Amino acid sequence: ALSLRGLQKRFGETQAMRGVDLDIPSGQFVAVVGRSGSGKSTMLRLIAGLEVPDAGTIAFDGVRGERGGDLRMMFQEPRLLPWARVLANVEVGIRDADKLRAGALAGEVLREVGLESKQNEWPAALSGGQRQRVALARALVSRPRLLLLDEPLGALDALTRLSMQVLLTQAWSRLGFTAILVTHDVTEAVALADRVLIIEDGRIVQDVAVREARPRTRGSPTLATIENSI
Ligand code: ATP
Ligand code: MG
Repeated sequence: ALSLRGLQKRFGETQAMRGVDLDIPSGQFVAVVGRSGSGKSTMLRLIAGLEVPDAGTIAFDGVRGERGGDLRMMFQEPRLLPWARVLANVEVGIRDADKLRAGALAGEVLREVGLESKQNEWPAALSGGQRQRVALARALVSRPRLLLLDEPLGALDALTRLSMQVLLTQAWSRLGFTAILVTHDVTEAVALADRVLIIEDGRIVQDVAVREARPRTRGSPTLATIENSI
């Protein structure tokens, strides 16, 4: 479980987080929506440890501080290494303990995201959606317990976005990590998440339960059905 208490963060004159309290049970899929500048990325970056809070605490499974290998983050841009082939880009995400089987693990995860045939390509040779799949594979290869997603589908066209939504829900159903997805798209939030948080001016102003605990085994039947038909 993830637990935030009294989280505050200021950048100069801007109070980006104004005392956020939040509890997310393990395995929940949470979406975060809110206007531009409301503090969504700041909240994720604080959870990821990329920013230090001015006040408040963050605990993951009861432990404060270092979350290291248990946490991965995806951004709107895939942030791949341009000088490394696809397989090597996925290997970057592998934990030290698994380095010996890196090639096999990375290949396996590339298969899961449907990019097995691209493993020897350079990132520049891929489409935007394929690059984002590589970023997803790099995030999933460590089997993180917490996946932070800062608008990872924001730059994709509608069809590519749909297939990424399917991949993401399937991975979540199969692997059982906790997911926090920031999105501008309220329809996407409701379609994918168990729970939707609305952030305004550095505060969580609404916390909506979208769905009772979903069966983990099936992912989202509606999305899968749509994708199979395109
Ligand atoms: P968007 O939907 O546009 O991505 P957001 O909800 O993610 O917006 P944040 O990036 O969290 O918003 O920013 C919240 C506020 O904090 C904004 O006013 C922003 O300008 C400010 N802010 C965020 N990061 C910094 C920074 N590194 N330096 C200065 N101000 C910052
Ligand atoms: Mg943002």
